[in-house]
Amino acid sequence: MEDNTNEGGGHFIDQIIRSDIASGKHGGRIHTRFPPEPNGFLHIGHSKAIILNFELAAKYGGMTNLRFDDTNPAAEETRFVEGIKEDIRWLGYDWDDREYYASDYFPTLFEYAIKLIKKGKAYVDHSSPEEMSKMRGTPTKPGQESPYRQRSIEDNLELFHRMQAGEFEEGECVLRAKIDMSSPNMHMRDPVMYRILNTPHHRTGTKWKIYPTYDFAHGQSDSIEKITHSLCTLEFENHRPLYEWFIRELEIFPSRQIEFARLNINYTVMSKRKLLQLVKEKHVDGWDDPRMPTLAGMRRRGYTPQAIRNFILKLGIAKRKHIIDLSLLEHTLREDLNNIALRRMVVIDPIRVVISNFPEHHEEAMPADNNPRDPEAGKRTIQFTKELYIERADFMVDPPSKYHRLRPGGFVRLKHGFILQCEHYQQDSEGKIIEVTCKYFPESKSGSDTSGIKVKGVIHWVSAKYGVPIEIRLYDRLFNDENPLGHADRDFLEFLNPDSLKLCTNAIGEPSILEANKQDRYQFLRNGYFVQDTESTPGHLIFNRTVTLRDSWSKKQK
Ligand code: ATP
Ligand code: MG
Repeated sequence: MEDNTNEGGGHFIDQIIRSDIASGKHGGRIHTRFPPEPNGFLHIGHSKAIILNFELAAKYGGMTNLRFDDTNPAAEETRFVEGIKEDIRWLGYDWDDREYYASDYFPTLFEYAIKLIKKGKAYVDHSSPEEMSKMRGTPTKPGQESPYRQRSIEDNLELFHRMQAGEFEEGECVLRAKIDMSSPNMHMRDPVMYRILNTPHHRTGTKWKIYPTYDFAHGQSDSIEKITHSLCTLEFENHRPLYEWFIRELEIFPSRQIEFARLNINYTVMSKRKLLQLVKEKHVDGWDDPRMPTLAGMRRRGYTPQAIRNFILKLGIAKRKHIIDLSLLEHTLREDLNNIALRRMVVIDPIRVVISNFPEHHEEAMPADNNPRDPEAGKRTIQFTKELYIERADFMVDPPSKYHRLRPGGFVRLKHGFILQCEHYQQDSEGKIIEVTCKYFPESKSGSDTSGIKVKGVIHWVSAKYGVPIEIRLYDRLFNDENPLGHADRDFLEFLNPDSLKLCTNAIGEPSILEANKQDRYQFLRNGYFVQDTESTPGHLIFNRTVTLRDSWSKKQK
């Protein structure tokens, strides 16, 4: 990752790792993991954790596990497991055969619980959830000990086995760690380790009636896998004393937890619960809707894994909470697309142009670079014909003074074409332009212009004879508020941008578009960067605009 701290380089976690290697801790071994809960698809925030874990281990010759933290059967599904794997591979990372599941550790965790009961460090509590929460106290007021706290080890062992045998109802009792009800850290006030859940699990079916809580599974899973550095986000900082307590009492492998700040981006939400709500209530077309901040959505939108990696590496790793400007992400995306995108001409909102002095069946073959930044991308040939399409916005009957495109009597250059002069135009009864008639200057051909005519504007066009119909989908940010979750008195859905998707079904593209491969990135001249949508077929071409050409972020820096 980028060196963004003091000498020696590397961010603070990198420095911790280097000093652990220097001191010979764990024999200099580095082993990290990415631990998603399969209760939704991954979002751009997760990519920070993925990139951090995989890159750090690789940098020091270590390994990274993929571990599904699947301790809550109510929310987890196999399709999320598959989606998560696809997304990590797409980002460019590989966990070899180290694919693990917290649910595979249920038997070990059960044994750990027995061990704590036998040490007198865990007990079965029959208090109701309401009673428990009342007795927990507040951060400033100590909690009260449960009346069940002094149960004998024998009673606790028997009751815990009966919990697993299905002899109690959901919510009737739980297993709690016996720590300290007056600890200033609420997580140390006899936290719940096991609860009864009668929901089948996506991998273990109905075998288990009791499930470990996240807090009793997460840290222990790291220890079981002998993870040396357990990297997680800041909200787990207060849980660390609890995880360390479990490690000490159970005498298991001492994984070291290190917290870093989550990635937050403005104009979006990054909580899986909220994303699930958007999907379930059909505010978007699914987890891979191109407006979603999910990796599946961003992939469909046309983001490249390279751009996402560059963005995360550029941000670096710190403990300070902050919100990143969406336009920085878009800036990084443009940098990558500008290098790889094939240039094409597509008219999104066409008006017809007829060239009066162009011979009826004549055609001019115009060579055009596929990517002026990359000579190896080669050239294509575009046929210039008597009838063309230009953008509706590129012709105005009575334009303002700074307008350099086509106007009655005015001149404009067609990119990879000729200079045109507007002779007249036709309007329908409502004043809408139907057709523009122009003359062209044969000696003004691009690349060999001897006409001497000076024009200020250059516009794109598509031959009416050869153009192919395409559907264009233009996206804008999903929310029109910088922090949709930041309003205590208002629901985040109120800030959904009603104009986040604009469908353009009349677009026309140059015919080389037909050769598009789903992976290819395009720059449609003057209109932005585009990629073919997953629903696109040769009979019905659909392109998503990944991002516009305009770069508001680099402007802000000036
Ligand atoms: P969410 O809050 O979106 O539901 P989560 O933390 O519950 O996310 P997990 O599946 O538990 O989702 O996350 C897996 C890993 O990714 C965790 O280590 C978590 O800390 C990390 N992670 C999640 N969101 C972010 C984020 N915005 N920035 C950095 N890391 C994140
Ligand atoms: Mg989580």
